[in-house]
Amino acid sequence: MPDGNQLIACHECDLLQREVALPEGGVARCARCGGILFRSHPQGLERALAFTLAALVLFIISNTFPIVGLEVNGDLIQATLLGTVHMLYRDGMWIVAGLVMFTTVLAPLAHILGMLYILAPLRFGRRPPNSAALIRVLTEVKYWGMVEVFVLGVLVSLVKLADLAKIVPGIALWSFAGLMILFTAATVAFDQRQVWQKLGEVA
Ligand SMILES: [Zn+2]
Repeated sequence: MPDGNQLIACHECDLLQREVALPEGGVARCARCGGILFRSHPQGLERALAFTLAALVLFIISNTFPIVGLEVNGDLIQATLLGTVHMLYRDGMWIVAGLVMFTTVLAPLAHILGMLYILAPLRFGRRPPNSAALIRVLTEVKYWGMVEVFVLGVLVSLVKLADLAKIVPGIALWSFAGLMILFTAATVAFDQRQVWQKLGEVA
């Protein structure tokens, strides 16, 4: 809880002002420019943890099951994400394979596991080791997860392929769509100000 001595700088105009205690769901605005300083999220970190756990489940489903199947002459050819990355790599398109692997698999996984590593112990009143360094890494890794770009790309390709073959949407296609929403929700709910505050309380 803010004790009235904590200072916060406005993100818009840099005015330094004292933090105040907010009612549930309240918003603190800058005295000079009216920009939002911070919001009160009741149980915000619990919500972030729930979204992150759900995102991890969908991440596993998305990477295990086929994204799409193409029915050509009665044969069903199914493609998983990792299988596609492997095929790109085998065909010599290793830069594309690396980009897909990094932005759609590794960066989102690192982001999800990093948030879990911080949120799960905090939920039980413990401080995870090296949390400060990890929060800084998370801030960087956040910009590299591009699940939504990938989902958009798949949808565009499906529309283009629809004339050539019968498209059978796979489980992973739906779970990727869900992952995109949950991942965004988890990232929004992971309020760094609240995380730092909680880390200070349990230290
Ligand atoms: Zn301001």
